[in-house]
Amino acid sequence: MIYDTSTLEETAKRLNEVSSSFCMAKWMNTTIHLHLGKTHSCHLPPIHKIPLKEVKEKPSALHNTSEKLNQRKMMLEGKRPKGCSACWDVEDLPGTHYSDRHVTGQASWTKPFYEKVLSSKWDDHINPSYLEVSFSANCNFKCSYCSPSLSTAWQTEVDKFGGYKLSGAFPHNSPFTKKMKGEAPIDDDNNPYIDAFWKWWPELKKDLMVFRITGGEPLLSRDTWKLFDLIDKEPMPELELSINSNFGVPAATFERFISTVGALEKEKKIRKIMMHTSVDTFGEQAEYIRNGLNFEKFQENVDTFLEKLPGASLSFMCTFNALSIDNFRPLMEWLITVRRKHAGPQRDIIFDIPHLRYPSFMAAQVLPPSYRDKMRELIAFMKEREHDLVGIAPIETLKMERILKWMEEVDHWDSKMLEQLERSKMDFSLFFREHDRRRGTDFLRLFPDLAPYYNYASKV
Ligand code: SF4
Repeated sequence: MIYDTSTLEETAKRLNEVSSSFCMAKWMNTTIHLHLGKTHSCHLPPIHKIPLKEVKEKPSALHNTSEKLNQRKMMLEGKRPKGCSACWDVEDLPGTHYSDRHVTGQASWTKPFYEKVLSSKWDDHINPSYLEVSFSANCNFKCSYCSPSLSTAWQTEVDKFGGYKLSGAFPHNSPFTKKMKGEAPIDDDNNPYIDAFWKWWPELKKDLMVFRITGGEPLLSRDTWKLFDLIDKEPMPELELSINSNFGVPAATFERFISTVGALEKEKKIRKIMMHTSVDTFGEQAEYIRNGLNFEKFQENVDTFLEKLPGASLSFMCTFNALSIDNFRPLMEWLITVRRKHAGPQRDIIFDIPHLRYPSFMAAQVLPPSYRDKMRELIAFMKEREHDLVGIAPIETLKMERILKWMEEVDHWDSKMLEQLERSKMDFSLFFREHDRRRGTDFLRLFPDLAPYYNYASKV
């Protein structure tokens, strides 16, 4: 178990024998945003540009960029790459604390590769065992916290209306200009990073244990379907195939997806299917946050997926934000019914609740203190229904308690941070008023308790 604390001490010792900054994730884990030509290892350090020149020489440079090779060299010498500060911050706390470096060091996808990594030279290219890629920004949703670099629907909107004018000098989610070339998504039909990826594939697939596809909406990318075809022809029986989907693609596409991956699973051409889908609250309020979502259709698709693929697991990713709280209880009630109907020892139905930090105007920290009572009510509701399989898992309640604590941190902020909070409140108002204007939505009908916040900009 990756979070097994009883083995973390031993794992830390094993890693530290190599060096105090050695991390297996820098070698074995990668996220490659092919549609942007960027990568990072792991997901915590900032993404960096993949030099096209390196990729043209060797397609494996999609993961093994010169920047990453230098970071590996530093790690072997006991130096700390700056981008990994999330881990160093944890490790430098007084007492013993385990960071992601330790946790990933005992993952099923790093353990078999220690010898391989240690017998390689720092500048050798290596294949990842855990790979996440985005092929395309093609997406039919424009969620309020998303951006044009990840969604073509967002791109289309800002090309027509421009970015959102908030309190800062530069509009939020502005369309890409010539100056910003290199930041904009690359055309799917003419993307040298995707060409390099398929060139690398016959070699890359050899060590692959987990392949996660993100986007955009992966089911709208033809490269996702190309991957399914390739696995059909050359099975990967040890592979966990993991896909992020909005579960809101056209019906024919969704049916085709179910039958395609269902056949791969049934014929044991892959080991496991792990789907991730996003939902941040219930009903119309969820539709408001995730523009493009049809909540009823979403519920139907969840049911169909779990019914037709009895061995598949599903994770609901709830990016908990300022608009999540008001209708969160019905979301949990629905989750419990889904678990009662479909849970089983052979599958996981996960409810992940990371809290949104950016854009900061949508973070739950901007909300008035009265919302903390609403949080306490939600936590009490969760506690009363705790059950690992057919209720609310205790870890989920714990995560909500952590979010409440994080919201309460505002009480201890200094004047500079409180100034920023005021700006966030202003941006909240400016953003959603403009959102309603250009998208024809009605914030006040769905979130009446937030009317003073919605109207904040007109009062200042
Ligand atoms: S040291 Fe931490 S941040 Fe850096 S790659 Fe490892 S797990 Fe990720």
